Amino acid sequence: MKIFNTFSRNIQELSPQNPPVVTFYACGPTVYDHTHLGHLRTFTNNDLLKRALTMLGYKIHHVMNITDVGHLTGDTDEGEDKLEKGALKAGKTVWEVADYYTKQFIFSLKELNIIESDELPKATDHIQDMITLIKKLEEKGFTYKTEEAIYFDISKFTDYGKLSGQKIEDKIQKSRDEVHIDSNKKHPADFALWFFTVGRFKDHVMRWDFGSAQGFPGWHIECSAMSMKYLGETIDIHAGGIDHIPVHHENEIAQSEAATGKPFVSIWFHSAFLNIEGQKMSKSLGNFYRIEDLQEKGVSPQALRYLYLQTHYRQPMNFTFEAAGAATSAFNNLKEMVLALKKQTQRTVLSTDKLGQLDEYRTQFLSALQNDLQIPQALAVMWSMLKSNIPSEDKYDLALEFDQVLGLGLATFEEETIPEEIVELAKKRLEARNEKEFEKSDELKKEILEKGYSIEDTSDSFIIKKK
Ligand SMILES: [Zn+2]
Repeated sequence: MKIFNTFSRNIQELSPQNPPVVTFYACGPTVYDHTHLGHLRTFTNNDLLKRALTMLGYKIHHVMNITDVGHLTGDTDEGEDKLEKGALKAGKTVWEVADYYTKQFIFSLKELNIIESDELPKATDHIQDMITLIKKLEEKGFTYKTEEAIYFDISKFTDYGKLSGQKIEDKIQKSRDEVHIDSNKKHPADFALWFFTVGRFKDHVMRWDFGSAQGFPGWHIECSAMSMKYLGETIDIHAGGIDHIPVHHENEIAQSEAATGKPFVSIWFHSAFLNIEGQKMSKSLGNFYRIEDLQEKGVSPQALRYLYLQTHYRQPMNFTFEAAGAATSAFNNLKEMVLALKKQTQRTVLSTDKLGQLDEYRTQFLSALQNDLQIPQALAVMWSMLKSNIPSEDKYDLALEFDQVLGLGLATFEEETIPEEIVELAKKRLEARNEKEFEKSDELKKEILEKGYSIEDTSDSFIIKKK
């Protein structure tokens, strides 16, 4: 399989260290607020990659972390602790806030039919692993201590900036605008591995012993500590959103490679941004939509997943309600088509021609996956297969096979059963219509609509559908 590697800036062949196993680490959420459509796009893309690799015969060992400590409001060391801020806002403890949003996050992933990771480690359960790693960096001379924190000294790591290709000078330029609270920090891009609970953090609730002092870890160290613990010192694929590239992932590389002397990651897999109605997501625009917000507006999680499938992971995506509506119709059409195929169970013997066609669709589908995860193309292959003249049952089987990657839940589609009560109302309405009692017929139609069903008239009967 070929994947674009942010590090090499090339589409390259995946070559796992221990095939068929692929070690896969994905940066998880910081659980201080709701999971929104932007996050969900990234996690859906990770899921698609994982499912594609599985179809291609790899065995994925997937680890995703939960950041429940230490992530400040900016990706750099400025600002407040996100969790403490969230807790303050909600009038809850930091632990309650983390727990609440972790559950909401897991719920959202389930709704989107995202396969669970093999491990879902929480940062707060791995403080000792982080301390061990920080001590290793201290021994090797990559750190320095101030009153406030232990920093990673980027001047000691000659390759700093190699992922984003940023020059250190540019970073200094950029960070001049930031407020440097710790005046003893040597270089603006040095980052905290550990904060001591002094000064601006003296009231910090989450705290652990580090030697004789107390404190809490910086954000970046957890990903290095947990990925090494579960997946070893070098990972085959590391995933995240592109917003992680310049700071978080750059720092993960520096601290990991400084500690082990080995390459940290073979392939960096990054998902592009998501905009809402052409605008960046922001608090002031109130467009941090959650999956529940979309459901209220009539967009199901399956339709959202379908919408995500239509944009390649490296392309920025513009979410609009118009597009979500179109995805809903397309998804409903797909559902009707698949259900119709499911009903036709007679298997005909395939002619060599049709057998060839079947193989051709499968080949096209797989090559779309192998070519940098071209999911929109794979989806198009499924549609042309469904519209082809191969026998229904073979179409159905192949659709289910493709769905192992697409994850739309085709195998779970069920014919809607219409409740008896609704059928009775529809019968009464038909009678009224036949008797030309139009007022009564309209009232009955209204009642059916209010109960969540729509009714269409045919020449001598009706079709009921769930709305
Ligand atoms: Zn991370």
